[in-house]
This record gives sequence, structure tokens and C-alpha cells, in this order.
Amino acid sequence: MTNEKLMEIFADTAYVRTGGSEEEKRCARYIADKCRELTGREAALESFAVPMADMAAASFTVDGRPVPCKGYLCAGSGSVEAPLLYLPNTDPCSLAACRGKIVLLDGYLGYWIYQDLLENGAVGFVTYDGNANYTDRDIDRRELRSYVSQGRKIPGVNINAKDAIQLVRAGGGTARIALEQDEREGTSQNVVLDLPSQGEGYILFTAHYDSTSLSQGAYDNMTGSAGLLALAERFAGAPHRYGMRFCWCGSEERGLLGSKAYAAAHEEELKNCALNINLDMIGSVMGKFIACVTGEEKLVHYIEYMASELGWGMEARQGVYSSDSTPLADKGVPAVSFARLAPNNTATIHNSYDTAALVLAERMQADVDFIAAFADRMGNAARCPVARQIPDNVKEDLDVYLNRKRKKK
Ligand SMILES: [Zn+2]
Repeated sequence: MTNEKLMEIFADTAYVRTGGSEEEKRCARYIADKCRELTGREAALESFAVPMADMAAASFTVDGRPVPCKGYLCAGSGSVEAPLLYLPNTDPCSLAACRGKIVLLDGYLGYWIYQDLLENGAVGFVTYDGNANYTDRDIDRRELRSYVSQGRKIPGVNINAKDAIQLVRAGGGTARIALEQDEREGTSQNVVLDLPSQGEGYILFTAHYDSTSLSQGAYDNMTGSAGLLALAERFAGAPHRYGMRFCWCGSEERGLLGSKAYAAAHEEELKNCALNINLDMIGSVMGKFIACVTGEEKLVHYIEYMASELGWGMEARQGVYSSDSTPLADKGVPAVSFARLAPNNTATIHNSYDTAALVLAERMQADVDFIAAFADRMGNAARCPVARQIPDNVKEDLDVYLNRKRKKK
């Protein structure tokens, strides 16, 4: 694929495409069209159900003064009024002060902090995003994920970091959250393309193509999606010993919903899956290339040796990468995620600054070349050497990541 063709993909997909939206469907069709154009083969759109909500009205006031906000989707409708409490720490002593309060939190609303809020009697929550040092006052659209709430909903809003600081300076007050939303079931979809194999086994390539609410998702993750298209184009002309299946995952940004749906729908077939190769954020102008192996330690060393042999600068480690490789590894498929991680002051994600300006065509090509070299070796192996087993230490990490166990302090 030429640099021009590659960058055209970013221009064609420079729009917000959140999981379950019409724009996400449009992008799925675009990827399927590209598959046909580049490989001559038909990709399938595999739909799965996702919770959706249309917010009719959301407000947040403190002592009667309105604070710009976006209501949490899927957090129910209704209103609540209570004293505002800023919760910088989440130790049991701090949490005990949450009873009857609307609680302002730093960071994301994770599974365990939400359970803690409920257990300690909080009646509402406020998160914030953006950056106090940016000129914009953007507010991301967040949702109360169904695996976080498990049906136990309290209302919440997301606000801008600048307003959060002002509220804490002012020292609290009486807060009121009111949400009015229509919650329903919608659909998202994975795009699946098969290149034929000579045997039973196959390698599964994944990359998510959805974005968050403010973002064009160029770096995160049209880079990985375009990378998968480039790999499919290359491999379509040269059949490998192993089959090659490509899955562009939907709704990753909503909690890996696409790869979870894929893993559930294809559980039987996954027994023949030798390896998952996942691409999430490559090709950035700045940043280091990494490989995260959710599998045996030997694969870390193999990739390091291979990189050294090819003169490729990189860093490999064993662990869990927060991406679509995780639900697959959880089903016992060894996985490796490739990424180029840019320093925060040169590229940020999940905001309006994630555009094609963060991407360098030559870097994209080089990253894809290295990933292709690795995939070539695995795909043409007499027998894929990666043990089809997840080591116990990695299983522990998966338990923590997937909220089955709490991280040890
Ligand atoms: Zn991503």
C-alpha cells in the first residue's frame, strides 16, 4: 500500500464513530469495501447487541449555579440532591464519608470504585476529563457500563477539569444532578475477513475501529485498522500454512464489547486459533514501539531476538494490554499486542486532538513491515511454536483487568 493510499484511509474516516452509532456502522461498511478492493474477498459484518441511550436532558448545579456537564449514559433517569464531596483518596476511611453524598472523583469510573461508592451509600457521582491546561472546555460523553453497574444505577455527570478545580476551591455546597434519558438496545458490529488456510489452524488479527465521543480516533485506532488492511492486502496474494482471519472490532472503547462478543460467538473455533495479533495505536510520529505478550515469556524473548535480527528498535514485555487481545487471551488464546506509544505531550487520545496529524505514513509502513515479518514467520511455521496456554501470572493479571479480583495494594 502506498503512503498516499494509506493516508487516504485517515481522510476517509475522519469522523466520530462511537460504538453502536450510525457512524460506526458507516465505518464498518467502509472497511468491508476496502477489504474487497484490496483482497478481492468479501468481509462479513457480525452484529452484536449493545446498550444505547439517548440523553434528552442532563443538568448539574451546585448551590443553584449550573455547571456545564454531560450526563452519564445508561445511568438511569431522575434527580438527586445532596452535599458535594470531593474524594481524592479511596481508602476505607475516605469512603466512609460518601454516605448520602454526590461524590466528585478523579479519573475514570472503574468497576471497583463504583462498587465502593454504592457500598458506602453515595447517591450520585461526578467525574471530570479534559485538561486544566488546555484552552478548550471539552467534555467527553461517558457511560455507566453495564458490567460496572450490574443494574444498580445512581445518576452521574462528567464535567471539565477546570470546573472540577473551581468546585473543589469553592469547598463543596449542595449539588443536584438531573438526568432524563431513553435507554434501549442497539447493535454494534465486527468486520471479519478470512484468508484461506491449508490446515485447521489460524491466526487471528484484531484492531478496533470505533472511537470515543470527541475523537476522530486516527491514532486510536484507525492506525491499527489501516495496519490490518495493509496486512490483509499483503497476505491475500501469498497463502500461508495457517489461515489468517482479520477482525476489525466494534465498541472497544465501551469496554472491549466487540472482542468480547467475538470470543463468545466463536468460542468453538477459537480452539483452532494459534495466536492473536492485536494492533492498537501504531504509526505515530513520536513514540516507542512495544509488544505486550499475553502468553508465555518465551514469546517475549522470541520477539526481542527477531527485532534484533532485523535491526528494529522495540521493547517487549509480558502482561495484559488494555485492548481487544484481552478477551481472547481470557479464552486461552495467546496474544500479542503491538503499539507505538507516544509521549503524552506529543499525542493524546480520547479527545478532539486525536487526528491524522499524529500519524506519519513512513512510520506506519515501518511498523506494519515489522508486524508482517512476525506474522509471516508464525503463519508459515511448520507448527506455530507459541504454547497455547496462558501462564498463571498472566491469568492473575487477567483476573484483575476483568474485575474478577481486586488489585493487591
Ligand atoms: Zn484503542
